[in-house]
Amino acid sequence: MKALILWQFSDVERAAGAGSPGAGASGMPDPAVPLPPGGGASLGAMNQSGAKAPALTVADVVAMVEAAAPPHLAAPWDSNRLICGDPDEAVASVLLAVDPVASVVQEAIETGADMLITHHPLYLRGTDHVSAADPKGRLVHRLIRNGIALLNAHTTLDAAHGGVAAALAAAVGLRAAVPLEPDSQDPTQGIGRIGALERPTRLRDLAAVVAAALPDSAPGLLVGGDLEATVETVAVSGGAGDSLLEAARQAGADVFLTADLRHHPASEHLEAGRPYLLCGTHWATEWVGLAPLAQRLERAAAARGARLEATVSRIVTDPWVMRLPTGPDSP
Ligand SMILES: [Zn+2]
Repeated sequence: MKALILWQFSDVERAAGAGSPGAGASGMPDPAVPLPPGGGASLGAMNQSGAKAPALTVADVVAMVEAAAPPHLAAPWDSNRLICGDPDEAVASVLLAVDPVASVVQEAIETGADMLITHHPLYLRGTDHVSAADPKGRLVHRLIRNGIALLNAHTTLDAAHGGVAAALAAAVGLRAAVPLEPDSQDPTQGIGRIGALERPTRLRDLAAVVAAALPDSAPGLLVGGDLEATVETVAVSGGAGDSLLEAARQAGADVFLTADLRHHPASEHLEAGRPYLLCGTHWATEWVGLAPLAQRLERAAAARGARLEATVSRIVTDPWVMRLPTGPDSP
């Protein structure tokens, strides 16, 4: 059984994250600020005026998530929806995570969350069964048995104002970032972001800033290009970014920060010059989009006089749990 890694920011990362240029101005919350623990909130809790706060339902939270990550932004191949759960059930606490995997479902159960909101869908290509004989079906059974609804916001959250791409741009410190591939209906939202650093910097130094701004996991951050080159315009896209290499080049990016880059696309791309490449992990580059959503949900609940505790999971759900240096001198 794969060991679980509970990720925590180090002091170095905390200092770098808090001081990254543009992070505050862009509205991205400091990820080092501990989020309140999930669970523990009881329905009908008293609000500040002493009156009984109205309970939210699963349907209410779905509507709040769809306000933050509008369904019209979804890619045509994607799934962004309530996966299991009763829209009429009450919700006092939600857990947010990148992946709907067993460790995250276990955390939702242990923390007493009423709802799990993940970035990735459980069944992107659909299914014809939810038998507990397979891992995904087993999760559905566990969620339903424990009264936990499961909702996902995938490409809708990628593209949205304040979503994954916007949070990644803020983490890097980009100013006036705009979508790399604007949505046809609303060009102020869309896939990826491109913007300028506060001042030109060496690729080597930008990579250090980005490494400090992302949560840690075994693979870390890979850098491709001339480390001493001066760069200023940066494109970002959380998750797998192969398909956006050319868009980043056409947009004039000096650097493209994404994840999951494969050898041939990356190598052939760099042979033709900029943008240089920063390749984080899929999980890390998307995780940064969860805290802004959690804050937005809590604010939306408070605006209706209701109480909602939104907690971001810190379980690292990268498939990779260890990285070893290679070569004859490696340990
Ligand atoms: Zn993803």
